[in-house]
Amino acid sequence: MARYLGPTCRQCRREGMKLMLKGTRCETAKCSIERRERSMAPGMHGWRRGRHSEHGVRLREKQKVKRYYGLLEKQFMSFFREAVRKKGNTGRTLLELLERRLDNVVYKLNFAPSRKAARQLIAHGHIYLNGRRVDVADITVKIGDKITLKNSDRSRKAVKAQLEANPNYQVQGWLQLDPSKPAATVVSLPTREDVQLAVEEQLVVEFCSR
Ligand code: SF4
Repeated sequence: MARYLGPTCRQCRREGMKLMLKGTRCETAKCSIERRERSMAPGMHGWRRGRHSEHGVRLREKQKVKRYYGLLEKQFMSFFREAVRKKGNTGRTLLELLERRLDNVVYKLNFAPSRKAARQLIAHGHIYLNGRRVDVADITVKIGDKITLKNSDRSRKAVKAQLEANPNYQVQGWLQLDPSKPAATVVSLPTREDVQLAVEEQLVVEFCSR
């Protein structure tokens, strides 16, 4: 009997890669992609279906980015338009901008097990940016921004439990975390190398510019 896959794992299977959408489960052997790879005999071809047209390949790369960051089409396109307006390589700029989203930052600080959970923390008012409560996840952080928690036991408890569950978690160099508070500062801007997504961003740009 076919095993039931939640909508998030199905997205990973569709893209043929780990999009890390289910928090801690993604790091374990229960991950659907890992299970699938373990069950494939050596030398077997991948499990992607059929060949894709050039349009299909570009669409797939765009969808990969959109799903990785958990964005709606409209949100994604607004980031794309902002990347076009900026100088430099649009694909890299797009990823660097997305990486600076507050929900991604909260996730990368290991305050939440997934970007979705990070969005919930923000929406429920547990996260403060530069001393002010924020409830929108698509703010892009800048150098010097400080991310703290609401001064409540509930907020601290939720985040501390997540930090303690992953004591060996390494925060990327563009963020500085003080786990005792917990609080963090953006010390530099993320680069393409900080984006842990295997995607051909040029194809995303080609798709969105058509
Ligand atoms: Fe599911 Fe996470 Fe594995 Fe994706 S990476 S298949 S969301 S467990």
